[in-house]
Formats: sequence, C-alpha cells, structure tokens
Amino acid sequence: MQDASNLSLEEAAEEHRELSETLKALSAAYYQEDAPRVDDAEYDVLFRKLQEIEVAFPELVSDESPTQRVGAAPAKGFGKVRHSVPMLSLDNAFNSEDLREFEGRVRRFLGLPHTEDVAFFAEPKIDGLSASLRYENARFVQGATRGDGQEGEDITENLKTLQDLPLRLKGDKNLHPDVFEVRGEVYMSISDFQILNENQAKAGQKIFANPRNAAAGSLRQLDKKITASRKLRLFAYAWGDASEVPGLTQSEVLEQFSQWGFSVNPLSKVCHNMEEAIDAYRKIEELRATLDYDIDGVVFKVNRLDWQSRLGFVSRSPRWAIAHKFPAEKATTLVKDIEIQVGRTGALTPVARLAPVSVGGVVVSNATLHNEEEIERKDIRIGDTVVIQRAGDVIPQVVEVQVDKRDESTSEPFQYPTVCPVCGSHAVREVNALSGKVDVVRRCTGGLICDAQAMERLKHFVSRNAFDIDGLGAKQIELFFTLGWVKSPVDIFALEEADKTRLQKIKNLEGFGEKAVKNLFEAINQRREIELDRFIFALGIRHVGQGNARLLAKNYLTLENLLNAFSAEQADPGKVYVDLLNIDGIGAAVADAVKEFFTEEKNREILKALQNQLVVIDFEAPSNDSPVAGKTVVFTGSLELMTRAEAKVKAEGLGAKVSGSVSAKTDYVVAGAKAGSKLKKAEDLGVAVVTEQEWLDLIGG
Ligand code: AMP
Repeated sequence: MQDASNLSLEEAAEEHRELSETLKALSAAYYQEDAPRVDDAEYDVLFRKLQEIEVAFPELVSDESPTQRVGAAPAKGFGKVRHSVPMLSLDNAFNSEDLREFEGRVRRFLGLPHTEDVAFFAEPKIDGLSASLRYENARFVQGATRGDGQEGEDITENLKTLQDLPLRLKGDKNLHPDVFEVRGEVYMSISDFQILNENQAKAGQKIFANPRNAAAGSLRQLDKKITASRKLRLFAYAWGDASEVPGLTQSEVLEQFSQWGFSVNPLSKVCHNMEEAIDAYRKIEELRATLDYDIDGVVFKVNRLDWQSRLGFVSRSPRWAIAHKFPAEKATTLVKDIEIQVGRTGALTPVARLAPVSVGGVVVSNATLHNEEEIERKDIRIGDTVVIQRAGDVIPQVVEVQVDKRDESTSEPFQYPTVCPVCGSHAVREVNALSGKVDVVRRCTGGLICDAQAMERLKHFVSRNAFDIDGLGAKQIELFFTLGWVKSPVDIFALEEADKTRLQKIKNLEGFGEKAVKNLFEAINQRREIELDRFIFALGIRHVGQGNARLLAKNYLTLENLLNAFSAEQADPGKVYVDLLNIDGIGAAVADAVKEFFTEEKNREILKALQNQLVVIDFEAPSNDSPVAGKTVVFTGSLELMTRAEAKVKAEGLGAKVSGSVSAKTDYVVAGAKAGSKLKKAEDLGVAVVTEQEWLDLIGG
C-alpha cells in the first residue's frame, strides 16, 4: 500500500471501507465463530493500515469503525450511571428439590392449574461481571457496570473495545426499539486468561487469580487501551430499560439478540417442564470441564414474559428466576493458626490461617470458622489437616478435620477467648429475651470504646455500596485510624481542613504522592452529596443491610424526619418503636438495633456533625403518580384474574397499602366471588367497592 497521505479522498474512502469490512469479518470469525481466519500479526497489519488512513483522513472515522474499539486517551475516573431498571441478584438453588420448590412458588403465585406446564429457559451462569449496554436508535450510547444494582460505573469507552459488542445493532433500522438496554456478562476465556497471566509474569506484572478477576481488572481500567489489549468477551442474556421488547418469551428475545449481533450462550435452551430443566442442569454440569470459560451454575428463567412481569421481584432478585449453583470445590491443607477478628458490630469471628492451597484455580490461605460452636463441634485445632471448600465468591470453609493426621502428643483443643482481643472488654454471648436462646456469636461489649469496632465501622462507611470514596479503602482507613487522624466518619470530611499541614503529612506516608492526596481530597468532596438509603446503610447499624436501609429511607424520606423521630422518642417512648415495626419487612431485631443506634447520644452527635458536612438527598419514592398510591385497599373473596399474593405485591408496588381488615380508613375493597363479611362491612361504612376487573382498570392493567 502506498503512504496513506498520498491517497485522494475517494481512494482513501474506498480503502477504508474495504479494510473495515475485512477487519469486522475477521473479528467475527475470531470471536463469534471461534474460527480465526488469519493470525494475530496479519490482523494487526491490516488494523494499522486502517489507523494510518484515519490519521490522514480523520473525516473517515465513524462510530462503527473497528479502530473505535481501541483505546484513546485515558479517562479521568469513571462517572456514575443510575440504572433506571435495577440490576439484580439471583436467588440460589443447591439441588433439584430447591428447583421443584421454586416451580411450586411460581405456580402458586400465578395460580396455575396442574394441567398447565411451566416452561423454563436454561442458561449457563457465566462467571464474569455483568454490564448494562444502552442502545438508542440502534447505536451503543452507554455501558455501565452493575455496581450496587442501583448505580454502576460508566464504562462505555472500555466496553467499546469488546469485539463481541455491536456498536450498532444489526438488522432493519426501522424495526429497532428506540431505547433498549441489553444486559450480559463480560468474561475472559480460560485460554486467554492463561496467556494473559503468562505475559503478566514475563513483564513482572500482577497475576490474576481467575478469569473473572482478570476480566474485572481489565474492564475497569481507566486506560481503555489496556482493556482493548485484553481479550474480553460478552454473552447477552437479559435486558433493562426498553421502549419495546422484541418477543413474548425469554427465548424469543435472546434469538433477537443474536440477530442484532450479540453472542448468546449456545448451551441455552427452552425446557418445557421442570423435569427437562433438571436434565438440562445435569447436561451443562457434565460439559462444564470442557468449556473454555468458567460457569458456576445454571440459571432458570420462566420463559413466558407475561408471567415474568406478573411474578415481579422480591427485594433484590426476580421471582421468575433462580440460579442452581454447582457444588463447591474442595482441597486439603494445614491450619497454621486461628485468629479472632472483631467486626463492626463487635462480633468475634474466628479465621483459620491456612497453608496456601489451590482450590479450583484460586489460591486460598484463609477460611472462615464461623463461630465458637462451629470450632467446638468440628474440634478444629491449630496444626490440624483439614478439607476446605469454596463455592463461588463465598469465603472458603472448613468441611472436615482429618483427625487421623493429628499429632495427639502436641495437639490441644482451641481455647476461645472470652475477652475482646483488641480492647480487652468482656466478650459475651447474648441471651435472646424472647426465646431464651444463647446467641452463637460472642460479642465484644466495648461498643464505642473498642478500636476494632470503630475501625470496621469506618471501613464499612467508605465501602463500595456505602460512601464509595475513591482512594479511601480499608487499607487507608487502617492507616489513618492508627495515626489518629480518622476516628469517626466526621473526621473523613474534615481530613483536609483539620490541619494546614495535613496534605504534607499524608504525602510523606508511603504509597501517597501529592497527586494521590489531591485526588483523595477531591474524591471525598465529591461524596459530600449522598442518597438517604446509602447514607443509612453506611452507618453500619446492626441488621441494617442495603435492603433494610432502603426500607427505612422509604419510610422516613428525609434524614431530618429520621432524626426527629428519635428525638421525639425521648418524650414518647415506644411510639417510634411501634412505627418501626409497622414498616413492612422490619422485624423486632432490626427495630431494636435501629432504635439503639439513633438514641445513643454519641451517635446523634456524629450524625449532627455529618449533617453539617454533607447533603443527604431525600429519598425519592418511585412512581407515586399511580392513582392508588397512598390508598388503603382490602382484597376479599376469591380472585380469578390474579392470585392474592400477586394482587398484594402489585398494589404495594404502586404505593398502596394492603390491609387485612376493613375500616373507615379503607379506600377500596376489591371484592372477588363469594365475598362475605368484609364486603358487607365496606357497604355499611360506605367504602368504595370495586370488582377485580375494575381494580385492574384503575391501576392500568
Ligand atoms: P448473583 O450475583 O450470584 O446473585 O447472581 C446474579 C449475577 O449472575 C448477575 O448479576 C450476572 O452477573 C450473573 N449471571 C451470569 N449468567 C447469567 C444469566 N444467564 N442470567 C442472569 N444472570 C447471570
């Protein structure tokens, strides 16, 4: 080829078109058909020619050019993307019995007769990381990680480097939905992972533990050139926001995905009933060892989409899907030591330090021992040879002690401490006031004086699903805590101004340069605004995980309300407790913990100080434009168009309160066939009575 700059525009355009077509076909052969037609060096030569042309004729660069899949200048950190449809987890099954129960739940919810089969779509559960890919008018416009399910990171530029990701959907332009978010799993093949690790080793760079870590590490690179150099792939299997859904079943939509140019896992298939589904699980499990990518189970989805939408969601996972996980992998090793860690709620957790051993490709050197009873029951001792297992992401566990390998002359049972190893306070096992049962967990009673608890609370405060401050992770918290600079969350936001020489002081610490310190201060400042549910979660209140934090946020709406509720409590003891218990989903243990936290004077001081440092964004209730939002409704009689459970979930999803009894406060009574006393009471009280169909019309179907 002559020097690109000597070409005329027409010649260059012609050459550009040809090269683009060839490169696209070659990469399709490589990635989608697994049948490379040329070797990498030849591909690179063609690719460089295309780049040369584009350098000489920038007007030829288009969004769809193969060069757009390769990195340009590094991005400056990832922006956040709020998922308009959350990215959820999956409920787990561990055996066929669990799968049958899942089918039973689906049937009961939908009220299906025995004669009606439920078809499931079986898909291997790819062990990678999920991504959401937004297409507008068939063009790829934004890609995000799952993050906490509500909010992920904007990794659009990195995703563009994936050869498996169509930059523009294939097929007739007029038939594409205006907006469509394809969801799928980004992964690295096992062979590419091995090559990457070999190259990393030669270059003296980080070695990845498994293909999933390698994929995650490669995708979340600020320099997308690095992402482009790692061979990442994608299987599409779900969707989020969609102006239109192209099909009536899971399988039809996935078929459409293939036509749009996505890779859909070839082992996916429709199972016409549960027996076929169980069979599909066995077949995929048998094939597992022959696949060039890691899978950790099989996902089953109710195939009919109308049923999926009726089934809806329960907390963080859909009711219409379940993941049957593969059994755990095992290995034998030595317990070198047993250490006791103190968590943020004071729980003492024993951890076995192990002689490093590889379990299913991951090197393991720690295993959780759960609690004191577990150690006693299994009689686990320092020096023992043990069988450990790990399943997916779960922390490895000790399943068995090989007692015959024990040296009885030196071996001694493990003595569990009764004082906190960090602050020396008594560590006790609480007795449940109601049941009289002794808690399995021993807890440090040091509370606010225990440094271990304080430090763990701070680590939680800055963790990924809480404040998620870039550059301020567990390691930095430990360092700042030990130096006495950060003892409470308030100190984080005062870190910069606390002392004029702070910047200099941090800079002098190992691992920090001037830029790192500036970035850290900037990251802290960026987090001075936070949503109420995240804020509540960040506080690390016992029993309050993301789900309960959301429930509290939804109920109190603003931080102000939440704090006021507990100051009022001092005047009216008991009221706020009852209010808490009235929140659907909050039980006594949670209510106790929440009350204890918000009435503790020290915590209130910290909260007040944080209120001055931060803007806590009020909770935004989802779609309260529904005509039944805030209304109280009672369902009575036998419903025919939906089951009771379904009716309740739907109504609550629209913001209505479902009650079991009729009173003057009831707004609607939905009366099915053979309605009795509740209907009569409604009529006596003059409460609006509607039929099932009228109710459906009211809520919009
Ligand atoms: P978990 O995080 O274990 O609750 O499982 C949910 C995750 O499984 C999703 O976020 C995806 O990353 C992953 N996954 C892998 N393959 C599939 C699939 N075929 N369908 C749905 N989720 C999948």
